[in-house]
Amino acid sequence: MARYLGPVCRLCRREGMKLFLKGERCHSEKCAIEKRNFVPGQHGKDRKAKIVGYGLQLREKQKTKRVYGLLETQFRNTFEKAAHMKGITGENLLGLLERRLDTVIYRMGFGTSRAQARQVVRHGHIQINGRKVDIPSFVVKPGDEVAVRESSRNNPTILSARDATAHAPAPGWMDVDRDGLKARVNGMPRRDELVQIPINEQLIVELYSK
Ligand code: SF4
Repeated sequence: MARYLGPVCRLCRREGMKLFLKGERCHSEKCAIEKRNFVPGQHGKDRKAKIVGYGLQLREKQKTKRVYGLLETQFRNTFEKAAHMKGITGENLLGLLERRLDTVIYRMGFGTSRAQARQVVRHGHIQINGRKVDIPSFVVKPGDEVAVRESSRNNPTILSARDATAHAPAPGWMDVDRDGLKARVNGMPRRDELVQIPINEQLIVELYSK
């Protein structure tokens, strides 16, 4: 599946906030938002206009897409799936995004960023309920056991990510066994557990409902 390959700090600067796309660098003084928090481009510094209406909805959608590392088609398809589920569409959307396998691995602490977690999945290091799964968009469900495969338990990328994220609490909807390199999904994520970055999902629903 296609993914964005351009400069990622630029995406944070466009949204005017840290989206935590680069792992450890995001927590250091090298972060581009710390050094030059203005919109990229020749006239970025001069942009002062307040964003309202459609612009606000568009920015919220773009920000959410970028946080989860999706392109427009994948994001739109996820929205359509959320819209056909029971319950509140915006919360369904965030729930589907948060239960993607790449995000689950990131939240378990076995990748310092979603991009790194996606690579861990793509390289075949992960199994679900004992079976190898290398699809980052796979959506986990309550009861699933997500684990690093036996043959990958000494993988240096995974082990150093685990050490680097030791301070980060796991979300309440997963029981994470960091030493055992595994986790069990114990329920559906609640809205207040869904994202680390402020997202107003209602604006995305309004945008796609036009
Ligand atoms: Fe965004 Fe991280 Fe780059 Fe900072 S270092 S601008 S948070 S991707």
